[in-house]
Amino acid sequence: MEKAPAKINLSLDVLHKRDDGYHDVEMVMTTIDLSDRIELQQLSKDEIQIALESRYVPSDERNLAYQAAKLFKKTYQIPNGVRIQIEKNIPVSAGLAGGSTDAAAVLRGLNRLFHVNAPLKDLAKLGSNLGADVAFCVYGKTAIAKGFGDQIEMLPSPPNCWVITARPDIGVSTRTIFERIELQHLQHPDTKKVLEALQKRDFYQICISLGNALEDITFALHPEVNRIKNAMLQAGADGAMMSGSGPTVFGLVQHFSKAQRIYNSMRGFCEDVQLVRILG
Ligand code: ATP
Repeated sequence: MEKAPAKINLSLDVLHKRDDGYHDVEMVMTTIDLSDRIELQQLSKDEIQIALESRYVPSDERNLAYQAAKLFKKTYQIPNGVRIQIEKNIPVSAGLAGGSTDAAAVLRGLNRLFHVNAPLKDLAKLGSNLGADVAFCVYGKTAIAKGFGDQIEMLPSPPNCWVITARPDIGVSTRTIFERIELQHLQHPDTKKVLEALQKRDFYQICISLGNALEDITFALHPEVNRIKNAMLQAGADGAMMSGSGPTVFGLVQHFSKAQRIYNSMRGFCEDVQLVRILG
């Protein structure tokens, strides 16, 4: 079994648009204890099967886990097939990298299953062909991703704390948000301050340094995301921010009893609220 944890962004900045149309980003990310579970089984025939029960995720070649297996098989010339069973716990199109972490887990899992022993660096490079968050998800833990998300530098983990995620019942397409970027109007986060806070393992500095250049764009399209962020802070979260391109908002809290109170109060605002540990 391969665990595929969700990520949250401690910062997300968009630096500029490249000639190929993609944006160069700078994202500090960490993993949380909200995971999909991936079981891999070798098949003698050359076939990739996906088994999952989800109304929102396709179980054919559109699934990122399928694409990861196809790419892995081709790159390392694996003649066998594989059955991939996905227990989906991470909400879909939520800004928590659900698809990317499944793809990354498939790369790690197949690497073991077929005794390829490729270093994580190679798997991350492979994964970056599938999506901007896959390289990070191959490593997990805490890291800064630059370029198209493909350049990864590991960072110290944040101090232990609790994470409350709250997701309104809307899907936000990352592409739609990126298409609306007007670079001159972005509110850039202070990434350096986040890095400093992580180096010092200073929880409160992390909380006040959180920043996401995409928040204003998503807030303009979906004001309820902004309302959830305000509610999270009003309920007493030490820090709160939208993850990725949204719509999930997360709150960071150091003490469990307070985290529980915030969790209960956020459940009045939206249906999908979770209280989990940071993994980092
Ligand atoms: P990110 O934070 O990386 O932008 P996200 O959390 O916003 O990602 P995902 O949950 O990865 O978004 O889903 C985005 C799209 O990818 C959905 O349309 C979904 O159908 C598709 N998809 C393909 N494979 C998967 C998978 N294994 N799990 C979830 N979504 C998948």
